[in-house]
Amino acid sequence: MNLSDLTLRSFHDGLRGKKFSALEAVQEHFKAIRAKDPGIHAYLTLLEEDATGIAGQVDESLAKGDQLAPLAGAPLAIKDNFLIKGHQATAGSKILEGYTASYDAHVIEKLKSERAVFLGKTNLDEFAMGTSTENSAFGPTKNPHDLERVPGGSSGGSAAAVAGNLALAALGTDTGGSGRQPAALCGVVGFKPTYGAVSRSGIIALGSSLDQVGILAKTTEDVAMLFRAIAGHDPMDATSVAVRYDKDLIEPDIKSMRGLTIGVPKEYFIDGIAPDVREGMDTAMRQLKDLGFKFKEISLPHTKYAISVYYVILPAEASATLARFDGIRYAGRPELPNNFTAPRGAGFGPEPTRRIILGTFVLSAGYYDAYYKKAQEVRTLVKDDFVQAFKEVDVIFAPTAPSSAFKIGEKSDDPLKLYLEDAFTIPVNLAGIPAVSIPVRGRTGLPVGFQLIGRHFREADILGIGRIYEEAQK
Ligand code: GLN
Repeated sequence: MNLSDLTLRSFHDGLRGKKFSALEAVQEHFKAIRAKDPGIHAYLTLLEEDATGIAGQVDESLAKGDQLAPLAGAPLAIKDNFLIKGHQATAGSKILEGYTASYDAHVIEKLKSERAVFLGKTNLDEFAMGTSTENSAFGPTKNPHDLERVPGGSSGGSAAAVAGNLALAALGTDTGGSGRQPAALCGVVGFKPTYGAVSRSGIIALGSSLDQVGILAKTTEDVAMLFRAIAGHDPMDATSVAVRYDKDLIEPDIKSMRGLTIGVPKEYFIDGIAPDVREGMDTAMRQLKDLGFKFKEISLPHTKYAISVYYVILPAEASATLARFDGIRYAGRPELPNNFTAPRGAGFGPEPTRRIILGTFVLSAGYYDAYYKKAQEVRTLVKDDFVQAFKEVDVIFAPTAPSSAFKIGEKSDDPLKLYLEDAFTIPVNLAGIPAVSIPVRGRTGLPVGFQLIGRHFREADILGIGRIYEEAQK
């Protein structure tokens, strides 16, 4: 049995059935990481000592006959913008190089309480700004399907770790698509919960009205296992909501699911979509129809404004969240003459710098109404489109990204081209609703993902349909 090939579910079952030990699984993952990661560069830091220690404890509990939590011993990868106490957290930036986290993110605490195993911290675009992982200050990650191509971003390291069998599943973040788009480009499942479903405490903020945790996994069932473990209220994140997620997340009620109607927004099937993505969407729709799902054309008329709105609101928020990195607390460089601001100039790469300048501009007294306030108003229109659509349909179907994995360097000199990558994921963040990207099955060539978008707190609908889709392909 290849232990790095498993899903979270089959890992849990195999571990409980004593087919292998947690330690064996961890060791096999590190063997795979040493063999393959020099070529992929999914990881920035490995946590081998901690991982081995926890796995050993899980094995001891198992030997004693203790009940195991669903994620006990599961080898996971964590994006390097999550804090894990005692370990470096860089967010892909030079400004945080050498910074050690002094506490655990809320979701890390939750996973620790199940004794999940953290193999290491994964690469990302600097402060999660990007769609290709080329903006990392520590060099790009490569797509395991083709090492000359990008894995998507900004959770490119997490997506590549799962796709390359270097972790069973991973955490990322999703502010404008960073969990779903890299999943689509790497051929894995990528999930963004409802805004408020999961606490962001201890995750390095990018845009606080948009940020959510992302989950990258091999199946929607595995997504549900992880989601159930990390969802819930946390007093340290005022936006987090106490919603009870029922058992139907893990065991969807197949009969009631088949009656759901899937909307297809005409604004998402535009000329800019690459031929392989279009073909993938046709295939997935046909497969879903064969499974008995009904499709209906809908309209989300304000979709065309989403990118413009996002690139006003996000930089505005980022200019505020990044203000804390002041060179005294984080990148202390006493040799620089003005050690408050000079390390910011030296520490931030081009993309954060661009967004700080843009964000400061749109928030400035003379321009606030014209840009920031206007963008907030249009954001409401984008959100209302979904409210209207969900009166007619239960779930929305869309491509995740307009293209499959592109070549490293192909778009990196043109930020606008990269911004367009998120045309289909950003509206979901603006509206705060959940979505999952699922690989289209039965394809040859580069992976393509389709999105299922759901109503607020109806993660069960999109994950349930995903589950039916995946199981039909087995
Ligand atoms: N690609 C988008 C950006 O560059 C989204 C990033 C994200 O979701 N973290 O901002």
